[in-house]
Amino acid sequence: MNRGGLYEFVFDPAQVNAALQPIWTSQPELDQIGVFHSHPDHPAEPSVTDASQPYLSGWSNVIVAVHEGKFKEARSWYRETEDSSFQEERILVG
Ligand SMILES: [Zn+2]
Repeated sequence: MNRGGLYEFVFDPAQVNAALQPIWTSQPELDQIGVFHSHPDHPAEPSVTDASQPYLSGWSNVIVAVHEGKFKEARSWYRETEDSSFQEERILVG
């Protein structure tokens, strides 16, 4: 959905769970600890829309800024509940 330059997407949590169920079943030693999405031509910071999504609570939320089709940066954000604000967390690779 495009609203004045802002793109939004929606998904059915049941469809996401159905897609992930085979992974949870075949690799129970793995834990899902977060989700990621991109912000085309916008900063890698939680948007007002992100803040309104209860589903984004309790996960690490990696947001990737893509400017003019090219990767700019990735940052990660966490909030415990939908009533708390996102806090940035370090991304460690290795
Ligand atoms: Zn976002």
